Amino acid sequence: MQTPLPDYLAHVIEACDIDNSGHLADYIPELANANPNRLALAMSTVDGEIYSVGDDDIEFTIQSMSKPFAYAYVLQQLGIEAVLDKVGVEPSGEAFNEISLGKDRRPKNPMINSGAITTHSLIPIKDDLESAEILRQFMSALAGRELRFDEAVYESEVKTAYRNLSIGYMLRTVGILETDPVDIVNGYIRQCSILVTVKDLVRMGSVLANGGVDPKTGKRLLNRSVVRQVLSVMMSCGMYDAAGDWLSTVGIPAKSGVAGGILGVLPGQVSIAAFSPKLDEHGNSVRGIDILERLSRDMGLHLMEGTPSAQTIVQSHYRTGKDASLSVYVLRGVLKFTEAEMLLRILQAEPMDQSTIVIDLTQISIIHDVGKRMFLEGIDRLIDDGHTLLLVDPEQRLDHARTHKDRTLHVYQDIEDLIAQLKDAEK
Ligand code: GLU
Repeated sequence: MQTPLPDYLAHVIEACDIDNSGHLADYIPELANANPNRLALAMSTVDGEIYSVGDDDIEFTIQSMSKPFAYAYVLQQLGIEAVLDKVGVEPSGEAFNEISLGKDRRPKNPMINSGAITTHSLIPIKDDLESAEILRQFMSALAGRELRFDEAVYESEVKTAYRNLSIGYMLRTVGILETDPVDIVNGYIRQCSILVTVKDLVRMGSVLANGGVDPKTGKRLLNRSVVRQVLSVMMSCGMYDAAGDWLSTVGIPAKSGVAGGILGVLPGQVSIAAFSPKLDEHGNSVRGIDILERLSRDMGLHLMEGTPSAQTIVQSHYRTGKDASLSVYVLRGVLKFTEAEMLLRILQAEPMDQSTIVIDLTQISIIHDVGKRMFLEGIDRLIDDGHTLLLVDPEQRLDHARTHKDRTLHVYQDIEDLIAQLKDAEK
C-alpha cells in the first residue's frame, strides 16, 4: 500500500495550475526575472515526514518568510519582554512596506517591514559574524542543511531599497534603531535573500509545528513560549492587509514572501509550503493562497474548527475480579486539560469504597503538563476516598511523579500481568 498523500497533493497543484492571474514582484528588479510558471507544494507532518510535489527542488528567496524566524531567533536570545519593548504585536492592516509606527512609536508588529527591520537590529552579534550570517546559520539548523544567500537578488534589492531605507531612517529618528539604519536595512535585505525550497520551508516549519523541537533530530531548537509567540503573530499579522480574510478562510498561521512563497504552520499538526511567483495586490502568491485554501478546506485544518479529541480518553472501562472488585480503565489519546477534565468526571462516579482501581496509560500518546497535574490530583482524591490505585505506565510518562500529597505511585509494566497477579492474590 502506498499512502495517497502525494497523489492528493499532486491533484491540488494541478487544480491550481490553471489560474494565471497576478504579477511578478518588480520593485526588486531581479525578482521580475523569475519563471512565472513555477509551482511547488510541500507538507511536513509533526513527526517530520515530508511530502512534496511540483518544482520542489527549485530554490527561491525566502523574503518575508524570514521574518517569523528572525523574530523567533531574537525572542530566544533576548526573551519576549525585551523584544516587546521595541516591536508590538498588533495587526496593522497595512501593506507590508508601510512607513508607519504605532501610537506608542513602536513598529506595530514584526511581520511588516518596520517591525522586521527593528527585529533584525536586535540580533545579538557574536563571533564577529554579520547579523544576516547569524540568521543564515540559525535557519540552516532549522532546515537541516546549509542554506545560502542569493547574491544577485540581494544586490538588486539593496540598490533600489528606497522605501526600506526611509523606514530605517524613520526608526532611527524615533530611537527604535540605535545604530546606522543603512547597515541594518542592508542586513535585513540580506536576511530576505536566503534561498530555500518548499521542502526546506516545511522542515523549518515543522520545528514550529512541533513546539520548538526538531522532529527529525529530537533536539529542542526553540522554547515552547517562543514558538507560541511566533505563531500567534503569524496568525494575526502574517498576511499583511489580508490577515483577517486569511484567518477566516484558511485559519492557519502563515507568512508569505514576495518571491511567491507561503508557509503555513498548524501547531501540533502540519507545516505546509507553497511556491508560485505571481502575486495578488497584497503581495501574496495567487496560486499559493489557492493551494492553502484548498488544503485547509479539504483536510479540515482551520484552527478554529477544533479537534473533538476529548471523546476518546477512556477507551474502555470494565470490572473484573471477585465480586467485580477491580475497576479497570484503559485510556487512549492525548491527556490535556479537556481530556483530564473528562476523565476526572468519569472517575467521580466510582463508589466510595475500598476497591482497587487500575488505570492503563499504555496507549496515551502525550501527557500535557496540565493533564498530568489534574490526573495526579484525581489520584490523590481517589486514595482519600479509600481506593487503592494501580497504574500501568510502561513508558514512564508520569516520570516517577508523586501525587500532590507526596504519595508514591504504584506503577506496572503490563496490564494483563497486573490483572493476573491481582486475581491470584484474591484466591
Ligand atoms: N525583501 C522584501 C522587502 O522588504 C520582502 C517583502 C516581502 O516578502 O513581503 O521589501
